Order: sequence, then structure tokens, then C-alpha cells
Amino acid sequence: MGKFFYTLAASQFGEHNRSSTEAKLWVLMYHRILPVTDARYGQEEPGMVVTPEVFAMHLREAGKLFDLVSLTDWLARAESGLALPAKACAITFDDGWLDNYQYALPILQQQQIPATLFAVADKIGTPFRFWPNIVAELIALKSLALHRHPLLAAAARLIEQPYSAERVATCIGHLKAHSEDELFAALEAIDWPAELTDTAAPLLNWAQLAAMQHSGLVEIGSHTSTHRRLNKGLSASVLEYEIATSKRFLEQQLGQPIALFCFPNGDYDAETLARVRQHYQAAVTTRSGINLRGRLQRHELLRIALHNDASNTPTRFRARLSGWR
Ligand SMILES: [Zn+2]
Repeated sequence: MGKFFYTLAASQFGEHNRSSTEAKLWVLMYHRILPVTDARYGQEEPGMVVTPEVFAMHLREAGKLFDLVSLTDWLARAESGLALPAKACAITFDDGWLDNYQYALPILQQQQIPATLFAVADKIGTPFRFWPNIVAELIALKSLALHRHPLLAAAARLIEQPYSAERVATCIGHLKAHSEDELFAALEAIDWPAELTDTAAPLLNWAQLAAMQHSGLVEIGSHTSTHRRLNKGLSASVLEYEIATSKRFLEQQLGQPIALFCFPNGDYDAETLARVRQHYQAAVTTRSGINLRGRLQRHELLRIALHNDASNTPTRFRARLSGWR
């Protein structure tokens, strides 16, 4: 079956087009919202970005198919046994990128659509850069420093070829075999900061985060304290810091209860999940699918990942919503 036919079939016959008595919840997962003309667009992994135009189109299309809801409102109604729309959809953003404030908030406000933003508590308002962005930028700069650490050998090989966002994304996927601590240690060992040209802080600051919250549309959730992936047999104190301390810190700074959690890279194990259950009303994963009220796993909510190439037309967007992949 050709890809086009598959997309067309998925766009027309997926769950989103079926009528059903069981309430369903689609949770859409976004990371960055950037215009193609923005310098930050070209260096980001393709799976991380949607343009403002495509994002606005998604919201309009989603509005035709679903009731667009706040994630906590939907969960609270489900918990209380209240009536729910047959097909609801909640918007989420991971990581707390500055571009969410610059480009996504105005569109949410224009269309009056609620969303949840998962912020990395210790990194808000700091110049912190996620290691995949540092690696991508070093490759783009053809930095020979990458040769200075064996862990970065796969990235170093890419500087001999023309820059390809797809190849870089594959390389980053391989590097995820290592822990955050190992990756940052390797990058620090090669003195990366001096090599980087763009020093603009990529993440939101507290004032911008508060402004999003005060819009009345955006709820803030925790995406841990430092964005460590929580699947490596981490110590109890590290888990406590990432899961519970991040919640307390966000609550102190923002003056609002933090009820939702988001697993970095979608990684967790039984121990992590148990702790998240203790501290949060619900949590989102990166596993793909549609949530059913009758089989709701509130701390392992499924999401649909959206990125530009896979969803830049209404037909492609509807195909993503089918939950078929
Ligand atoms: Zn993340």
C-alpha cells in the first residue's frame, strides 16, 4: 500500500472520525514552535519542530474534530464520574522552550485554546542547553573538538559530511544509550561552550512562564528538575530530587499547585512510576495512542507526537490522529 493511500485512509477511517460512546482523549505532544526563517529552526531535530502556521492549522482542524480541553479539567471530570465529550483533545508542550512563549502563546490566545506546558524546574531562566542541541550545533559548526572524546565519535564522523538534520537525529538517538551525566561530562571535557556561536538562552524565564500561566490558558507541569531520563536505576535521592523537588520548586515560584508530570524522553521504570503516582495526579508519556476513559492509566497517558514534516497538511494531521502509528 502506497504511503499516500495509507495517509489518506488513516485520515478518513481513524478513531477520530468514528462515533463512539466511550469518551476518548487525544493528547497532542509538541516541543518547539519556530518559523522556518528562524535560525533555530534549521538546527533542531526534525521531530522537534512545528511552524506557527502549521500549529495554527492543527488547532483549527482539531477544533473541528474534538472538544479542545484542559488536561486537568478532563481528568478531574473523569475521576468524578462526570459527563465527558465523546472526543476530547488536550495540547501539551515539553521542555519549556522560549519559542512556546513567542509563537505558541499568541496562537493559543487568538483561538482561546487551553494547553499544558511541562517545564524543567532548575533550568528555567538559565542559559541551559539540552545536550542534543549542543551536539547538533557542534556538528553544524564542524567542530573538531568532537574528536576529543570517544563517546562523541559517532557525532565527530558526521562533520565530514554535509549537514543533515536526519543524520544528526539518528546520531542523537544512538547517543541516548548513555546517561545524561555521561553525555554532559563528555561535552564538558571538550570545552564546548567556546565553540558555540549562538549564546541566546533557548528556554523560558520565570516571568515568561508566569505570563503564560496568567493568560488563563496554560497550566504548568513538571518535566523534572534537570531533564534526566528516569530509567537507569537512579538512586532514591536523585529520583526524589527530579520528581518531588521539581514540583515543590515550581509551586513556590509560580504560586499554583503542580498536578501533572512529564517523563523526559518518555523513559521510566516501576520505581519511577510509583514515585510519580505519589506526587502527581497524572503524568504523560511519549507512547503513542489514544486514551480511553474506561481503561485510563492516568500516570501513563498516551500522546500523539506532532512535527512539521509528518503533519503539515490537514490530511497528514488527521492521519497522525488516527492512532494507527
Ligand atoms: Zn523533554
